[in-house]
Amino acid sequence: MKTLRTIQEVHQALADRGRVGLVPTMGAFHEGHLALFRAARSECDTVVVSLFVNPTQFGPSEDLSRYPRDEARDADLAEAAAVDILFAPSAEEMYPSGYATWVEVDDTGAEGEARPNHFRGVATVCLKLFNIVRPQAAYFGQKDAQQVAVLRRLVRDLDLELDLRVLPTVRDADGLALSSRNAFLSDDERRQALALPRALGAGRSAHVQGSDPVTAARAALNGLEPDYVEVLDLGDVTVLAAAARVGTTRIIDNIVLEGELK
Ligand code: AMP
Repeated sequence: MKTLRTIQEVHQALADRGRVGLVPTMGAFHEGHLALFRAARSECDTVVVSLFVNPTQFGPSEDLSRYPRDEARDADLAEAAAVDILFAPSAEEMYPSGYATWVEVDDTGAEGEARPNHFRGVATVCLKLFNIVRPQAAYFGQKDAQQVAVLRRLVRDLDLELDLRVLPTVRDADGLALSSRNAFLSDDERRQALALPRALGAGRSAHVQGSDPVTAARAALNGLEPDYVEVLDLGDVTVLAAAARVGTTRIIDNIVLEGELK
């Protein structure tokens, strides 16, 4: 595996590399990331993983400065997953002085309302990564359901020739969705956080029985204060999505109500 830091190095390395699959990440790899790497590995000739804690998708009061970072560990995990290129640019490489162009997608749902400018940062960095790596396929987790909705809209609206692949959420044995931010949870908070996937499960059960999933999920949150609970249409699937704060950590999750991920 090569670790590259400049856009020019990426272009040189990717000349004539067959079907290229890109997995955009912010690092602190866990099994959720590794599942995306494996899917890319099985479907593509060349697998590129980007590791960039994108400052433009964090709000001023969010956790950019304390976001977990361990590039050496991530590089070992990527190498073990047979990733070909780890693209780990600096902030200056991605946003040189004078940078002034932004991609805005309308209607970014409750998650977009809860995090102003978040999806502007996500859409902008992803379009930049698509232009830098020029992949035929890009891999994302259903865990970030609104992100999937925004990127599907971006690909359609800007006529990108890109196969956007979405893979199911990887969970711990007790049901908590894996997330780099779970590292911030104390043992006690981790136990409280379990109320989120359980409430979403209660929402799905209610939906199956013909009741309102949002009301049922809210009632099952066991004291967790949600930012929102909403039904979200991703095209092939409809999910029940929610975000909540546990201590100082914000967690998000969703569960499929209808359809199957394609
Ligand atoms: P991040 O590094 O958190 O920005 O995530 C990079 C990619 O991994 C995104 O497409 C996420 O949706 C995906 N991802 C994060 N957590 C999980 C998970 N538990 N299961 C599957 N994919 C995930």
